[in-house]
Amino acid sequence: MAEVIIIGGGIAGLSAALEIAASGVKALIFSKVHPLRSHSVAAQGGINAALRNHPDGKNDSWEAHMIDTIKGGDFLNDQEAVALMCREGAKRVMELEKMGCPFSRTPEGRIAQRPFGGGVFPRAAYAADRTGHAMLNTLYEQCMRAREEGRIDFYDEWHVLSVIASGSKCLGIAARNMRDSEIKPFPAGAVIIATGGAGRIYSHSTNALINTGMGIALGYFAGVSLKDMEFVQFHPTTLYGTNILISEGARGEGGWLLNKDGKRFLSDYPDSASSMEMAPRDIVARNIIKEIRRGGGVEDEYVYLDLRHLGEEKIQERLPGIRELSIKFAGIDPAKELIPVQPGQHYTMGGIDVNIKCETGLNGLFAAGEASCVSVHGANRLGGNSLLEALVFGAVAGKSASEYAEGAEKYPEAFLKESEAGLKEKTSFLMNSRTGKSQWDIWEEMRKTMMETAGIFRNRDGLTKGLNIISRLIGEYDGISLSDRGGVMNMELYWAEELRGSLRVAEAVLIGALAREDFPGRDDERFLKHSVIEYNSGSPELSLKDVDVSYCSPAERRY
Ligand SMILES: Cc1cc2nc3c(=O)[nH]c(=O)nc-3n(C[C@H](O)[C@H](O)[C@H](O)COP(=O)(O)OP(=O)(O)OC[C@H]3O[C@@H](n4cnc5c(N)ncnc54)[C@H](O)[C@@H]3O)c2cc1C
Repeated sequence: MAEVIIIGGGIAGLSAALEIAASGVKALIFSKVHPLRSHSVAAQGGINAALRNHPDGKNDSWEAHMIDTIKGGDFLNDQEAVALMCREGAKRVMELEKMGCPFSRTPEGRIAQRPFGGGVFPRAAYAADRTGHAMLNTLYEQCMRAREEGRIDFYDEWHVLSVIASGSKCLGIAARNMRDSEIKPFPAGAVIIATGGAGRIYSHSTNALINTGMGIALGYFAGVSLKDMEFVQFHPTTLYGTNILISEGARGEGGWLLNKDGKRFLSDYPDSASSMEMAPRDIVARNIIKEIRRGGGVEDEYVYLDLRHLGEEKIQERLPGIRELSIKFAGIDPAKELIPVQPGQHYTMGGIDVNIKCETGLNGLFAAGEASCVSVHGANRLGGNSLLEALVFGAVAGKSASEYAEGAEKYPEAFLKESEAGLKEKTSFLMNSRTGKSQWDIWEEMRKTMMETAGIFRNRDGLTKGLNIISRLIGEYDGISLSDRGGVMNMELYWAEELRGSLRVAEAVLIGALAREDFPGRDDERFLKHSVIEYNSGSPELSLKDVDVSYCSPAERRY
């Protein structure tokens, strides 16, 4: 039986696995944590699809969803990919529903839909404010059934260290069993990278600690390019102090953003004056920072999210998770008090460059979900679109990879042995005693640098400074030493291996951002392009690529 290896047990990985299993090919899912601990489980607000179940959404259509998505991404999305995602959306959500996903309901018993920023119709289907949890568990249940039938295998707590390639072909992976540190090469007919985002290269992020970006680097190191890495989404409302996400669903249900004087200040900014809290994330996040800089912030650090007028009953029914998080982590009950919020890193729009079939530049290597950049989000993702992307393109990658694997040749075992030796060397390199910097200092400096120089507002001086610091840290990485030399669940070793990828992903964000320095005015002549970065043995090389604008022409965004 042909086999496909999937790196990642989030929504993209599990969606791919089900597609592969259905096609008669075996799927092997590698995940460094139990799949149900993937970041997908934390998704709160909803998944977009033109289901037309909300009374205000009767005229919704996949075309309207597509236009909203393209406008939201400032026309830097590849429009054919957006069309595919929006066309498939309703079908995939209904499939999940049939699998038993416990979506919230309308009084008539249909899947309920709430409004999200940048959408002209309410189209985010949700399961209270725990949508990712409901979706991931539903997919996992189906995967367990396929496992019983021998069509899927799980490798939980296996840390994938490299994608093994020879010439223009991907041959498999090498991974470490975190329980005993054994490293093994695994040949496969095809490999899918579905490793999620890179939020933790920033100090203030809503992402799980495991979202280091190393998975993105796995492809990059194997020779495939990264695309649009400079596009990093900052969510407007993260809890002040911890940066835990306060879902856009809170504004979708009618929440207000207030400055220190209690005013809904978004009306003062032309690009959010009419849509107010329902303008897209990039605009709301920018205007919060502008308001804080203008002196309207509380303690010059944050603004307030006001849910009190929604009433305790509605908050408890629609936003129970938000209420619980606010009480537990800030000691604030949103039914009675204002929630202090500030923007924080949230989503990685860029990633491994793939085409509409999820193919990378390396034969047999595919990518899907947040780790990839099929370019459905352009410069700014709309809330509710990434769960959809992971679901739809996970399945696309599964289909492409299983077709490829069925026709793939036998693997050259000698090559795999060679890479095993290479990986053992890599570990002993990390385990050897050295006198250099502690990896924790490097992590901290990288995250602080990214926040300060590659945040919401950027300029050439800051970005250049950031790039210099990251280049120095990449050099210092070679000297790090480990104090824990044990083989069982050696987390120090795990973090050191992740850091190698995180640093390179951070570097790519800065290089991409420098190519697209902030200009207040529109300049489609120069900026309607994708940035593409190749690793090139450690000397990253930047090029530009055209954007597919086959459906709608670019125009200035106003909401
Ligand atoms: C707090 C929060 C709330 C969100 N809410 C929403 C929402 O309401 N709607 C929406 O559309 N989007 C939302 N998003 C975004 C969305 O959840 C993610 O983009 C999406 O779930 C990513 O899915 P994924 O399968 O690509 O990756 P993930 O779910 O991040 O899974 C990555 C997998 O890769 C594995 N992995 C990574 N590296 C390795 C390695 N080297 N070896 C082995 N395994 C590895 C991990 O173990 C994990 O299983 C939210 C994100 C956050 C952070």
